Amino acid sequence: MVTRSVDMRSDTVTKPTETMRAAMAIAEVDDDILGLDPTAAQLEAEMARIMGKEAALFVASGTMANLISVLTHCQIRGSEVILGEYSHIVIYENGGISTIGGVHPRTVKNNEDGTMDIDLIEKAIRDPNLAICCPTTRLICLENSNAHSGGRCLSVEYTDKVGELAKKHGLMLHIDGSRIFNASVALGVPVHRLAQAADSVTACLSKGLGAPAGTIIAGSKSFISKARILRKTLGGGIRQVGILCAAGLVALQENVAKLENDHKNAKILAKEISKIKGLKVDAATVETNIVFVEVSKDSSITERELLEMLKARGVYVSQPGPRKIRLVLHHQISEDDVHYAVSCFQKVINGSQLEMLAIE
Ligand SMILES: *Cc1c(COP(=O)(O)O)cnc(C)c1O
Repeated sequence: MVTRSVDMRSDTVTKPTETMRAAMAIAEVDDDILGLDPTAAQLEAEMARIMGKEAALFVASGTMANLISVLTHCQIRGSEVILGEYSHIVIYENGGISTIGGVHPRTVKNNEDGTMDIDLIEKAIRDPNLAICCPTTRLICLENSNAHSGGRCLSVEYTDKVGELAKKHGLMLHIDGSRIFNASVALGVPVHRLAQAADSVTACLSKGLGAPAGTIIAGSKSFISKARILRKTLGGGIRQVGILCAAGLVALQENVAKLENDHKNAKILAKEISKIKGLKVDAATVETNIVFVEVSKDSSITERELLEMLKARGVYVSQPGPRKIRLVLHHQISEDDVHYAVSCFQKVINGSQLEMLAIE
């Protein structure tokens, strides 16, 4: 019988804490579509300050935040956005920018550290003289931390360079900052500095920060008023949203400080798993709370079997691709849980090696 559960499928599996639930229960609320909810106003003001922008907007999810941001920047159909080939917007958001917004994605190669080469971005910008046959480039999107690369962080220097390039060509810059607080903690740079070159930036409250729902978009006052209208258009206006925003405020007060520990646990996990035969982890690339494990071709076990056998021991992981396992740390996983998970990996791998020997 499994008595223990270590859920590393994502940091979205975090459950609201007691203090969050208590704050939600007593939150002052009103109709936010009419602009009357005081708790929403408080959270939005606080996030605008943290993210270094004039204004901010609470929306239901990170997907909605990216969709609204891209569509607000690209109000003319046939606009084009330049973004990484493995960016969350391209891979995991149902192609919403195209299917709903009529915005064309122009993908650029992602490097292993999540960056795109500046010269490749520049080459992807359309020549305005060819507007008769080409879409019009209006926006560049970055992602920090970068999910596909295993939570690696974009530096201030890199982001500023992309910002300069955007300015030079009269383009906007959006940062999908779903995990920008992780990047901020890992780099030791305030969120507003990481977002300085961007015209808009998002931050998820419902990942490592542990709130039950919500993502914040931050930008100029005029950008956010347009975004607010689009949120309503998409059916994303929530009346007494202060109940959710109250959890977001607690997340800021209590959970940002816990991210450092998640990163520490991710490094321990990576280091310990890299010692297990048949599993490969590049511990040096673990910068935040995500660990990718490669199951070697000659391993005694497939990634699917590994996932199932771990599950039987109460250790939950995800499988983002062939021979790949993904582990995401969050504040509801302790260092002790990490050691338990490592011992399960060892048992499963060693057990299957013994089985192989027995067969031989
Ligand atoms: C999780 C995530 C999103 C989307 O957030 P949801 O709230 O799940 O819609 C967007 N971008 C990145 C990089 C993410 O990791």
